[in-house]
Amino acid sequence: MFEAQGRKDVLSDPSFAEYFAWEPHRSNCPDLESLLEGLICALPEEWKARARRLFAGRNLHGHANAEAWRSGEVGVIEINYGITSAAMIYSVLYYKYFEMVRTLGAEVDFVDDDEEVLMMILEEVGDSGFTPILIADGEKGSWRANRRIFAGHELLRELPASASYDAYHELVRSIEEFVLAHELAHHLLGHTSDPYPRASQNLTHFKKIKDKYGILPPDETLNPEQKDEMEADTLALLVMSGALTGEITSGRIYRAAGGSVIALTALAHIDDSWVASNEPGQTHPDFITRYANAVDLVKKISKETPVGVEGGHPVGFLAQLSGFVSLILDRWLSKNMPQHTPVNVLSLSYWLFEAAVALEAELKELGIQDSRLADP
Ligand SMILES: [Zn+2]
Repeated sequence: MFEAQGRKDVLSDPSFAEYFAWEPHRSNCPDLESLLEGLICALPEEWKARARRLFAGRNLHGHANAEAWRSGEVGVIEINYGITSAAMIYSVLYYKYFEMVRTLGAEVDFVDDDEEVLMMILEEVGDSGFTPILIADGEKGSWRANRRIFAGHELLRELPASASYDAYHELVRSIEEFVLAHELAHHLLGHTSDPYPRASQNLTHFKKIKDKYGILPPDETLNPEQKDEMEADTLALLVMSGALTGEITSGRIYRAAGGSVIALTALAHIDDSWVASNEPGQTHPDFITRYANAVDLVKKISKETPVGVEGGHPVGFLAQLSGFVSLILDRWLSKNMPQHTPVNVLSLSYWLFEAAVALEAELKELGIQDSRLADP
């Protein structure tokens, strides 16, 4: 771009030297290359040779989409820049939602403030979380029509005050990582056009791990292509969390949970694929099916994870994510079901109170230890 604009002088800045020194190996993009390296490390030894022969290509198409395909010997994963734009926008929406919830919990006094003051505070707090979602909801029609996702509104690209740049960047990366892992899974499970000789051995190991955690096979009513999609999601989550090689850490579970749920939500919101039929020709299962699968899997693999020192647990993170998903899904429900009353900040607050109680009961039921109690 700088060359095209006759500003090669800008590129002589020494701070760019690192970029020019970079040599493409598994990808044309350093970010994707490091993500792919990380995923390969989380594969069983026997799977790595295949994965090492893949190339993750970033292209500049604006639509939120990715693909796995082969051309003869070459296996390719293609990630559109639209995925990254979507990851950045929905990470901002998530952080704004998270800030709203935190403010509701920490700063709003539901007991002492009088009703009128309380309503005013709630409306103001609610605006900060709801407005960005409404803006994205308004813009997605043009994203879809132009097949180009563009964070044109400042609220869609303005980093929330609570997010450090690193934390935000890691959330965006975890969304890209889930998409990359999903396409990698298609290659590893032999879903791409070539008959991959080791795919059946991979399937055996994959099944063993699924059985270990009690992960159910895809719903029988799905068509074959949709079942492949479910298997790719499942394998992607097992790789990201470290479960495929028995190296689960809570940090990896958080990444897998956040990356998958926000990626699936963004795609469903942009493409309006919340619900879909299982008729032949429908290549992807709907959001509800994929989301339920991801949540179920994360819960199952995080049973051994104790509650962290600050009270966090992946199951709690899932509850928080489900509130975020609900707010976005609620826009669709409001448009498509005349009898549906849209969520407002008051109903969200009630829901959060109930969710907190339900979460405590769920952690207890799963037998998850609270390390804060064990270590006073
Ligand atoms: Zn797929």
